[in-house]
Amino acid sequence: MTDSKSTSPSDRQTVFVANRGEIALRIIRACRRLGLRVVCGFSEADRGAAYLACADDAICIGPAAAAKSYLNIPAVIRAAQLLEADLIHPGYGFLSENADFAEAVEKAGMTLVGPSAEIMRRMGDKVEAKAAMIAADVPCVPGPDSVLPNDPEAIAAIAEQIGYPVILKAAGGGGGRGMRIVREAAKLAEAFMLTRQEAQRFFGNPDIYMEKFLEKPRHVEIQILADAHGTALWLGDRDCSMQRRHQKLIEEAPAPGIDRGLIEEIGTRCARSCAEIGYVGAGTFEFLYEDGQFYFIEMNTRIQVEHPVTEMVTGLDIVALQIDVARGRPLPLSQEQVRTEGHAIECRINAEDPESFAPSPGRVSKMHAPGGPGVRVDTHIASGTEVSASYDSMIAKIIAFGVDRDEALSRARAALEEMQIEGVKTNIALHSQLLVDTGFAEGGVSIHHFEHWLEKREASNA
Ligand code: ADP
Repeated sequence: MTDSKSTSPSDRQTVFVANRGEIALRIIRACRRLGLRVVCGFSEADRGAAYLACADDAICIGPAAAAKSYLNIPAVIRAAQLLEADLIHPGYGFLSENADFAEAVEKAGMTLVGPSAEIMRRMGDKVEAKAAMIAADVPCVPGPDSVLPNDPEAIAAIAEQIGYPVILKAAGGGGGRGMRIVREAAKLAEAFMLTRQEAQRFFGNPDIYMEKFLEKPRHVEIQILADAHGTALWLGDRDCSMQRRHQKLIEEAPAPGIDRGLIEEIGTRCARSCAEIGYVGAGTFEFLYEDGQFYFIEMNTRIQVEHPVTEMVTGLDIVALQIDVARGRPLPLSQEQVRTEGHAIECRINAEDPESFAPSPGRVSKMHAPGGPGVRVDTHIASGTEVSASYDSMIAKIIAFGVDRDEALSRARAALEEMQIEGVKTNIALHSQLLVDTGFAEGGVSIHHFEHWLEKREASNA
């Protein structure tokens, strides 16, 4: 405690967790470490969940359907007020990047663990974010930093200038939707119309922009953390190229085989741009990396699922630091004091059919989590947990640390072998297969690697 005045239980600050599952438990743990009171909102589907007992208090915020509970802004605000919260932590997903929610939290006199509504809005608009990054000298995918005009000839000219293939993207897009690849001029006008309609339908914003389509990039991202006193740090990089339909499956830190000098240059620019735009909180700059070049694609203004790999290699508690900067505290370290060491790999364990990828909800009849040196498991499930069909199918994350990538890989393999989950189908065996894939073991696969791997698996099963 750096406070000089003594803190009796009654003037301890309270954090309301506006999320569920493993990330809710992760936030509860960070609050405990900081000596804060922590309370949760839960839906009917999560009533009685074991992780809720780790909080100081919990209250029901609505039915199972997320739209009526975890996405219900008035219900969340009311619950936080009832439990006398000072801060609200939104986790990832749900309301975590919703600027209206950020505004509502502020209006209700509480503090969001995250950036201001204004910054969230700005970074949530991909065209505005791209313009801000270009201004801050962060390299972006070739293409204009403005929305496309409603004029087929002008659009065709922009595509010619960039060079085919190009990708059309919704300015307000997210979750891998509202994007279309165009490989030839003859297909451009129709693709533009379709993407615009989709953008309007899904995101309520018809603005479209265009950039060069990169054929075989890797997904590499930079973790940042910034306080309200002008300090912005970058905490190293992560490679999240192992994806299925834009959903990450395996993440690791650092990204293998990339020149450290180049990463440092990019990380430094990301941190500097945070200071320039007045960003406060944890955030991630996502890049595509191809042929030795980084291209910014978007910024996430929240904690990410894969933050543990960065925690393992830096030794920092990113969630605790994120809460502290939201409380107005200065970051307790300088960039020179951020040291990364070793290698960490995270496997996302989903309750799903390993062949069809269809969610597999149900009751976990048996659960055994692995352990041992360098193995961390972030999960809210235990024997008896009900996995609801109402939410994302990710139920656990296995994170393995090693002095180098080989050791991290072998610990991850052993951990996967040890883990047992019964009662729901999982992708544990799939992860075991991926970790012995020669391409992945070498390091540096592209974002299409998993699709190609699946095609090969299907061909050999046929
Ligand atoms: P979202 O917010 O929907 O996740 P992103 O802009 O982060 O959208 O893009 C999602 C994914 O789409 C990327 O991880 C990458 O796989 C692909 N993608 C996006 N832009 C490009 C591009 N210019 N070239 C190639 N692939 C791209």
